[in-house]
Amino acid sequence: MIDYQQILDTIQEEMSYRDVKGKVASYIPELAKVDPKKFGLHLYRNEHEFYGFGDHEEKFSIQSISKVFTLSLAIRNLGTKVWERVHVEPSGNPFNSLMQLEQDRGIPRNPFINSGALVISDILVDVLDNPKKELLEFVRKITGEDHIDYDENVAQSELSSGYRNIALVNYMKALGNIKCDVEKIVDFYFYSCSIAMSCKSLAKAFMLYANKGAILHTGEQVLNPSTVKRLNALMQTCGFYDESGEFSFEVGLPGKSGVGGGIAAIHPQQYSVAVWSPVLNKKGNSELGMKALERLTTLTGLSVF
Ligand code: GLN
Repeated sequence: MIDYQQILDTIQEEMSYRDVKGKVASYIPELAKVDPKKFGLHLYRNEHEFYGFGDHEEKFSIQSISKVFTLSLAIRNLGTKVWERVHVEPSGNPFNSLMQLEQDRGIPRNPFINSGALVISDILVDVLDNPKKELLEFVRKITGEDHIDYDENVAQSELSSGYRNIALVNYMKALGNIKCDVEKIVDFYFYSCSIAMSCKSLAKAFMLYANKGAILHTGEQVLNPSTVKRLNALMQTCGFYDESGEFSFEVGLPGKSGVGGGIAAIHPQQYSVAVWSPVLNKKGNSELGMKALERLTTLTGLSVF
């Protein structure tokens, strides 16, 4: 029997914010204000068995972790047609890179880098009547938590400084891979990234991907198992941008990070876990978060490899 609480206590004792060298994201002004000392982790095994420590119940900006939710919603609405607009290869480039788009004729390498998520946003803006409302409804449904919401300040902060993302959409529009109005797409994208959730809520949401597409607390099947298999494969190979290999090597779980300092990851049929520490490494992933998850898979002996 694995003593999860003891393992979590060990991780909390071992890890210190003082050991990390990176910085809190500053290119989104609102994120630069976050206290770098925040640190929390939450793990779900099933509806009745969960563990956490530190700031695991405090909300933070989930940023790119939302790319898993928007992709899930796009596949629910469009099925495999999504793959005509975005590829499924690791990019080996930074999350906000424009570089490969020219040679790839405007088709992003994968849906978990910004260009890919912007194409997914275009799809959702096109097919949904009220995409912001429906995304929030989806996240509330899979967590059972109606208090989850967008953070207006973070969304506005990014809208006023998101030139790279605006450039990405314009460039892909020029190359023929964007259908809707650029302003509507970036507005939806920035709002998606601004969703505020705690580690506890994120881990609960991610049980969907550990559970073959069934909601933890209701058992309702919202994604089919084959979709979840594909989503997990993408998280494994592309979830950490140009550090996806390193995350597989050190941690060995499908997961997704965000520049708010969160990481959510799953072990199919075993657990989901979310960690938050806002200090980022050079690749834009939570430095302490990655270390904590490395310890988790080492101490539990449970990675997918
Ligand atoms: N909103 C951020 C951006 O578009 C998300 C990036 C991230 O979390 N890696 O730049």
